[in-house]
Amino acid sequence: MTQIISREIQLVSRPKGIPTETNFNLVQTTLPSLQEQQVLVRNLFMSVDPYMRGRMNEGKSYVPQFEIGKPLEGGAVGEVVESLATGFKPGDIVVSSFGWREYFIAAPQDLQTVSSEFQPLSVYLGALGMTGLTAWAGLHQGKVKAGETIYISGAAGAVGSVAGQLAKFRGCRVIGSAGSAEKVAFLLEECGFDGAFNYKEGPVLEQLKLNAPDGIDVYFDNVGGESLEASLAVLRLHGRIIACGGISGYNAEKPIPSPVNLFNITTKRLTMKGLMVFDWLNRQAEFLEEAGGYYKAGKLKHKETVVEGIDQAVAAFIGLFQGQNVGKMVVKLK
Ligand code: NDP
Repeated sequence: MTQIISREIQLVSRPKGIPTETNFNLVQTTLPSLQEQQVLVRNLFMSVDPYMRGRMNEGKSYVPQFEIGKPLEGGAVGEVVESLATGFKPGDIVVSSFGWREYFIAAPQDLQTVSSEFQPLSVYLGALGMTGLTAWAGLHQGKVKAGETIYISGAAGAVGSVAGQLAKFRGCRVIGSAGSAEKVAFLLEECGFDGAFNYKEGPVLEQLKLNAPDGIDVYFDNVGGESLEASLAVLRLHGRIIACGGISGYNAEKPIPSPVNLFNITTKRLTMKGLMVFDWLNRQAEFLEEAGGYYKAGKLKHKETVVEGIDQAVAAFIGLFQGQNVGKMVVKLK
């Protein structure tokens, strides 16, 4: 094996508030030689995801924290360059959690081979990957049924846009909110939402009432804050909240006040349940069969925002908190 020079993004300090470029460093490394039962992979695409923000904080969390001076981790799709492990050969496409770097060496158990039948391969980070599974799992957990009205916040993002499309396939009436006119048009024209609004244009509660005058049955929460409070107000009796994310608070430097109207949970007998995609990994095959089928048939749209080059990965990550992505934000590695 010739010596491989790779570049990786390391965390140099823990962000306070919205991360900045100074919290990260692009570092050049030389990979060691390949050992028996190891695989050398070149990453083609890497994922940047809002949950990574939580891994940059000090202290314990539900996922291991990133370490200072070490490369970040995250979803990636790569191509096997060389293999000394049985079951892997050059050209194989693999999904791993060794993102934020150009090349890496891994053991077979840390790699998942995927078919190159689905293109672009970045779909394995989005509609057919972790965020797609999150959307699918949320709808299962929330027991979403035909005829119900579902409101999705962060609707034009990776999870939201797939959740909305899958909910439409299940026969729901789907309302979404997002942060620009372009995103609202994407939801209505490409994803088939029945209603959509720009949450930056006016109070969420007012706009939600206009789009769902008879209330909603389910709220798929990606953002928390004002959208959660508005949903508590318009959820019907026995409504459900799929508590998927709370991006409006991920960069908060002080504790965020909870919704003032939580008592609706009692009076309307609402159910609010936390969703963790990791709990659903054992149903990945079932998810892939359904979502892959829709994707192959051209029914499920995989919208993505592609940024090129590892030197642009940090900007892409920060861009998530500025709404720069429509669909899944991915970084294409050269
Ligand atoms: P997105 O693709 O939706 O990207 C983030 C989007 O969030 C931005 O484009 C922006 O869109 C919106 N946003 C950013 N800041 C704010 C804000 N202050 N208030 C409201 N919206 C904001 O990301 P994902 O689809 O990957 O993730 C969506 C949510 O799901 C996140 O909260 C994430 O943490 C969560 N998640 C949870 C998982 C789980 O297992 N529970 C797994 C995966 C994701 P806009 O222009 O509309 O503001």
